[in-house]
Amino acid sequence: MLATADALARLLDAARQVDGRARVDTLDALDRVLAADVTSPLDVPPMHTSAMDGYAVRAADLAGASEAAPVTLPVSQRIPAGHAAEALAAGTAARIFTGATVPPGADAVVMQEMAQVSDDGRVAFAQAPTAGEWITRQGADIRRDSVILPAGTRLTPQALGLAASVGCAQLDVVRPVRVAIFFTGDELRMPGEPLEPGAIYNSNRFTLRALLAKLGCEVTDLGIVPDRLDATRETLRRAAADHDLILTCGGVSVGEEDHVKPAVEAEGRISMWQIAMKPGKPLAFGAVRRGEEGTEAFFIGLPGNPVSSFCTFLLFVRPFLLRLAGVKHVAPRVYSMRADFSQKKGDRRNEFLRARVNEAGGLDLFENQSSAVLTSTVWGDGLIDNPPNHAISAGEIVRFIPFSELMR
Ligand code: AMP
Ligand code: MG
Repeated sequence: MLATADALARLLDAARQVDGRARVDTLDALDRVLAADVTSPLDVPPMHTSAMDGYAVRAADLAGASEAAPVTLPVSQRIPAGHAAEALAAGTAARIFTGATVPPGADAVVMQEMAQVSDDGRVAFAQAPTAGEWITRQGADIRRDSVILPAGTRLTPQALGLAASVGCAQLDVVRPVRVAIFFTGDELRMPGEPLEPGAIYNSNRFTLRALLAKLGCEVTDLGIVPDRLDATRETLRRAAADHDLILTCGGVSVGEEDHVKPAVEAEGRISMWQIAMKPGKPLAFGAVRRGEEGTEAFFIGLPGNPVSSFCTFLLFVRPFLLRLAGVKHVAPRVYSMRADFSQKKGDRRNEFLRARVNEAGGLDLFENQSSAVLTSTVWGDGLIDNPPNHAISAGEIVRFIPFSELMR
């Protein structure tokens, strides 16, 4: 059995960014992946701007101003945001507002609360500003010609704002990854259908479809495939034709009713199977031939147990899909956190324990860690990555991966 880290490294090594890009409106580009660097054609802000409502001055004109001896200046112009400014005449102040252009010659802004307007329209200052005060300098945020968002960035709301701040109306993005998914198991029924003896609901369909949607994939859901070799092979062939990845759920273990692995071996190849992790041991990776050009669709077979398929998706399928989509940084952030529980016996495999952050800032463990108990995934905030053969004592610092990190 392969160690989790080795399995992940092999998986990511095989992943290649899909061909094809699109140009989309920046307003519609949320969660898409940049196909090219975004370079700024301008400085942001494009000019020196005032950070306050107040008065633009030459700091030297107010040198020595104090409560006892305020300096009074006439107001030579008024500059609202969005309007051009004229050079500031020496010995005068300009009325200015937040976001407005600082007039050439001015080197400080005094906030209006620190200025006293007299009846004749002149302003008195009881304090000398330092040069640069309350001025946001041209290019303070972004310098012209700098790369603000590199290719491979997944576009967050704030990234869209940044792109818009340099005037990008459209962005070059990678086309969505095409995923075919199907489920094996003669016992599976859809919610809404009656549940006869021996049947269970196909909960994984809901979890996995939602996870794929979160990653921005284009999904073809081929439904439930009967537990038969011929039906499984036929579905694999169909799915390979126009998808980048075929994802299956269940039937990938070693029972007589598990036909996924032999079916993939007949239609392509299995390059990796069984990982030393708990839950999720029977994860399989490989490829299915496409009829014509001798190309292949990637294949990942997830175990059927609901917690196993959930965890293996988060830990393996997510980074793999992000790589296919062209994302550079796919590793989740891992936090060092205190275990507020103890677990006497370690497992031979790398465990991923469902845990929750408590009020004291430590971690509590869900009492039932069975791979069939889906409740643990809703109760928990994330997974403790516990190395093989490692018992956990209360107070110990463990590796914690929040679900939020695994679903970005
Ligand atoms: P398998 O991997 O096919 O051996 O399935 C392992 C366990 O997971 C069995 O108890 C199955 O009934 C259950 N299971 C398989 N597929 C699903 C699914 N789509 N939704 C919920 N449970 C499933
Ligand atoms: Mg099965």
